[in-house]
Amino acid sequence: MAETDVDLDAEQYEKHREAGEILAQVRAEAAERVEVGASHLDVAEYAENRIRELGGEPAFPVNISIDEEAAHATPSIDDEETFGEEMVNLDIGVHVDGWLADTAITVDLSGHDELAEASEEALDAALDVVEPGVETGEVGAAIEDVIDGYGFNPVVNLTGHGLGHWEQHTAPNIPNRAVSQGTTLEVGDVVAIEPFATDGSGKVNEGADEEIFALEREGSIRNRQARQALEQITEEFRTLPFATRWLDTSRAKMALRRLKANDIVHGYPVLKEDDGALVSQKEHTLIVTPDGCEVTTR
Ligand code: MN
Ligand code: MN
Repeated sequence: MAETDVDLDAEQYEKHREAGEILAQVRAEAAERVEVGASHLDVAEYAENRIRELGGEPAFPVNISIDEEAAHATPSIDDEETFGEEMVNLDIGVHVDGWLADTAITVDLSGHDELAEASEEALDAALDVVEPGVETGEVGAAIEDVIDGYGFNPVVNLTGHGLGHWEQHTAPNIPNRAVSQGTTLEVGDVVAIEPFATDGSGKVNEGADEEIFALEREGSIRNRQARQALEQITEEFRTLPFATRWLDTSRAKMALRRLKANDIVHGYPVLKEDDGALVSQKEHTLIVTPDGCEVTTR
């Protein structure tokens, strides 16, 4: 199909837009609730419930990353943590019938305004260069330039991505640095761009904690709680990520351990920079249009 034949008014794009509109509102409301002493679990559940009230579904658990954490942290069901004078990243997703929007914002309670600004400005610069035919490497170069200019490092082993139907991460990757072998963005592509800036090394590693999981393959399992969990996962979340605390079954942790041991689900370990480093993040979802792009999560 030639580029010009893509119908950007088609139902799937309308659903992406609806998801984006819900998400923009929930991001603002959730960010307002992030303050010293507020509970992580309250903020996550507030956002997830608001998404449902507004007619969407969470596309993945609300990620609340603190200081050196960059991604995949979400509260456990009995989480008692509260915010301190920290750098807080909220990463939130919505889907409408499996059509997604994905956004993130840094709420800085730590007094490091410049680090938060660096990822914000990098995202603006990236959005400015998006148009049909642009190489993803040029988008990455725009991000890297801005973050370098602030004297920080982009996190290079985290990237933006395409958003598929019931799929949070599809091709193309949108790098957070200049790369030579990129792909080209075309009209109708739906992608998330997400610069991370850090005063650490610019590479994240897997930590020990795991509260987010997703279905890996179809399968069957004998244990009753694991079977109940698997039923809920395949019906409700399908291939999208979910949190341990979202499972209705008793003994959710045990059920997930069994499903994981059988390679039916996989986990997302928390991703972290070096100890003592800080990470900021800003993310929007966009549709590539003939003139440039339409940001769905603004
Ligand atoms: Mn995200
Ligand atoms: Mn994303």
